[in-house]
Amino acid sequence: MTVLLEVRSFSKGFGGVRAVQGCSFAVEEGSVTALIGPNGSGKTTVFNMITGYLGADAGSVRFAGTEYRKPDPALLYRRGLTRTFQQARIFGSLSVRENLVAAAGHRWTGLLGPRAARADRARADELLEDFGLAAKADVKAADLSYGQRKLCEFAAVLMANPRLVLLDEPTAGVNPVMIETMERHVRARNAQGVTFLVVEHDMPLVMRLCDPVIVLDRGRTIATGTPAEIQTDARVLDAYLGD
Ligand code: ADP
Repeated sequence: MTVLLEVRSFSKGFGGVRAVQGCSFAVEEGSVTALIGPNGSGKTTVFNMITGYLGADAGSVRFAGTEYRKPDPALLYRRGLTRTFQQARIFGSLSVRENLVAAAGHRWTGLLGPRAARADRARADELLEDFGLAAKADVKAADLSYGQRKLCEFAAVLMANPRLVLLDEPTAGVNPVMIETMERHVRARNAQGVTFLVVEHDMPLVMRLCDPVIVLDRGRTIATGTPAEIQTDARVLDAYLGD
């Protein structure tokens, strides 16, 4: 098995709050790995540091064999590490198709420009078909439902042909049908070789979709294991039920 992403001794403080303290873990290529933990345990901060949206006080990240002390979101994106956000970040004034085309990140210059543009549009349409959003291709993204916005963002991050996708609460606030849809898309892309690291509060979903499960508490990794192992781990139960 190959480690695709390694978080090495991440630490981050906000004023007096030690949000993340010496957090380390690895994500195997081909896995759907969960990152769970009680509210305030540091999951979002870790996501933000991996992707370079937030500078770490200490630690580094290793992705696909390269170590990054100051990860840069745009560079990592080009190298195959993409993410979604709790509140989907899409351009409301652009159409759904334009959002996907923009996410491909190409600058259409030179003689090959028109051909590249056509290729991006074709790929966008293929993804929209696959995500059941074909009928919405020309609709402004702002006019999508909350769940559809999340789907649109998911489809958009796939435009870059990522190796690793970080999903930040993909099913938060969406209806049960959309939860199943999200799950189906994660499984389908994973079967095609895309690795996922998922922050998710829906524990039944985590337990059936993810393996392994990494548990954070107070900014540290306190357990890593299969869903079955995690559910019976005394430290994990303590973290969720303690205090
Ligand atoms: P989680 O995603 O697991 O709920 P977070 O990473 O959001 O946890 O937060 C970890 C800790 O860091 C919490 O105590 C939170 O209040 C604090 N924190 C996160 N972001 C900030 C910030 N920008 N400023 C101050 N404190 C923050």
